[in-house]
Amino acid sequence: MMSLAPNIARCGSDHRPQVLVKLRHLISLLILVWGFTFLGNITMAQNVSGTWAISIHGGAGTSPGNFSDEANAARHAAMQAALDIGQKILVDGGTSLDAVEAVIRFLEDEPQFNAGKGAVFNAQGRHELDASIMDGRDKSGGAVAGVTIVKNPISLARLVMTETRHVLLTGDGAEEFARSLHIDLVDNTYFDTPSTLKRWDEFLEGQKKDGGKDNEQAALMLDTGSYFGTVGCVALDSSGNLAAGTSTGGMTNKKFGRVGDSPILGAGTYADNESCAVSCTGIGEEFIRNSVAFDVSARMKYQGASVEQAVTDILENQLRPGDGGIIAVDKNGRVFMGFNTGGMARAMADSTGKSEVIWVEEK
Ligand code: ASP
Repeated sequence: MMSLAPNIARCGSDHRPQVLVKLRHLISLLILVWGFTFLGNITMAQNVSGTWAISIHGGAGTSPGNFSDEANAARHAAMQAALDIGQKILVDGGTSLDAVEAVIRFLEDEPQFNAGKGAVFNAQGRHELDASIMDGRDKSGGAVAGVTIVKNPISLARLVMTETRHVLLTGDGAEEFARSLHIDLVDNTYFDTPSTLKRWDEFLEGQKKDGGKDNEQAALMLDTGSYFGTVGCVALDSSGNLAAGTSTGGMTNKKFGRVGDSPILGAGTYADNESCAVSCTGIGEEFIRNSVAFDVSARMKYQGASVEQAVTDILENQLRPGDGGIIAVDKNGRVFMGFNTGGMARAMADSTGKSEVIWVEEK
């Protein structure tokens, strides 16, 4: 009380004219506004760098030799078209999230890939689709698993992120949510293609020869050289924001209800503006066990590894040969696409003018 009294007294004894006080307030306000504008401009200048980059995968596995020339040409053309879609969004100043969703939506509609139309058959002869998307700005994310009638699971995943307080919705609940949004729904047979049916038949044949055992997908893949076909996209936009997404039908003949890594943030998909954006493809169980997508980011963030070192070390030392592939872009726009299978359909472009589509060539 003793120390407050003099202050109160001083305030009370201020008899300066009101106009001067008002002038002082006005000047303070102007200085404040100028300060905010100045700081705002600095922030804008830091973010709007003009640097952007995008990378896409169309699944790991092997090998183009297993497919007809027509099928290989169609897959290459689809990867190029997807890259063009994503690149245009980024060149026009669009967001990495929009680029990732648009690219994956396009590939989900392309029957050559194991995502959306073209998703593989599960053990019941049906399709269950998984997808996720993640925003590196605030690590918000959305995912759906085991959906059977949603034409574009990646868009539903984004709506889980933006329209709910959850991260992952599964099965019936995810579909009820989809119905409430009036997004495109299809019959489960919409996802059928002759080549996925053939692959499922071959799988069942192989199983019969193997005495009906639920033989491990990896062994099957290495033996028959089959191709996974999951799709994923990572992007950095010119505002410095990273995003990642992945979409899949999973693994041929998977058990009803099986969920892989693709809809699991940290396993198949991850994005953090402080490090990188990651999308994985391969044997999902291994990617979940090793938290692969998060591990790429963690190695960069905590160990100072480059995107190339992080991805390569995981592929060589954490995962088993033949497990799959990883695409990642770091916060500076450096892209790395690695795999420990015979090949991986992949593409990238960036603001330095680099642009390439590589459809499963042998390493
Ligand atoms: N990772 C996916 C899964 O396990 C499959 C794939 O990438 O092809 O469901």
